[in-house]
Amino acid sequence: MTAPRIDVITIFPAWFAGPLTTSLLGRAIADGRLDLRVHDLRAFTTDRHRSVDDTPYGGGAGMVMRPDVWIWAAEAVWNDLPPTATVGCHAPPEGASHVAGGSRPRTLLLTPRGRPFTQDLARELADEERFVLLCGRYEGIDERVHDLVATDEVSIGDYVLFGGEVAAAAVIEAVTRLVPGIVGNVDSPADESFAGGLLEYPQYTRPAEVRGRGVPEVLTSGDHGAVARWREERARDLTRARRPDLLGDG
Ligand code: SAH
Repeated sequence: MTAPRIDVITIFPAWFAGPLTTSLLGRAIADGRLDLRVHDLRAFTTDRHRSVDDTPYGGGAGMVMRPDVWIWAAEAVWNDLPPTATVGCHAPPEGASHVAGGSRPRTLLLTPRGRPFTQDLARELADEERFVLLCGRYEGIDERVHDLVATDEVSIGDYVLFGGEVAAAAVIEAVTRLVPGIVGNVDSPADESFAGGLLEYPQYTRPAEVRGRGVPEVLTSGDHGAVARWREERARDLTRARRPDLLGDG
């Protein structure tokens, strides 16, 4: 299996230093099981100040990210070209009308107005050979990047962050743990929250008693059938109580 590839474009590549070198993700990248590449949007600027933003047409507070810089960055990343091949181009670079020899990879622009990110979308992305994540900052990205560059707009929830980096990290983690061979334990994702449209059942471990609280007897009974039934029932109870929308009768 070739390692799945994820490209991230951001003005804060250093932000990813922690997540990408820590724990399961860090190890998967170090071992070559995940091909994760972080690109600095500023490498695709033309001016001395390396500016990626400008004031909004029509006025208003804040700054908007420039479309030209984003287009140059996306075309270079899609086609594995160095910035020199795309920066300053006002037509697609030669031999690469968007993407040499094919359609562009799925390119997700992170934005509060996007399609809500769910386990279903994570599963969809886990089937892609590669995809690209675009992290906005300031007041967001020029609309023409939404139109010309993005194949999807994705939101991680109904709140507004400073930037798309936290959202990109959430997508990377959720997708990565679904790709067989990256997490190392391909069994566990099948059993957990959202897998069967339900939240996960409650989990317990040693010690058997803590602050006067024991564990449900069935879990120590050794009766695997009874354990499975108890878990299924608890998963249903929890889902009905907390997220009836997942059962389709919310
Ligand atoms: N003015 C914009 C918010 C800009 S926040 C608006 O009202 O919609 C700056 C950047 O953070 C965005 O461009 C986006 O990339 C990222 N971001 C903020 N909240 C997000 C969310 N809930 N999901 C995904 N990305 C988000």
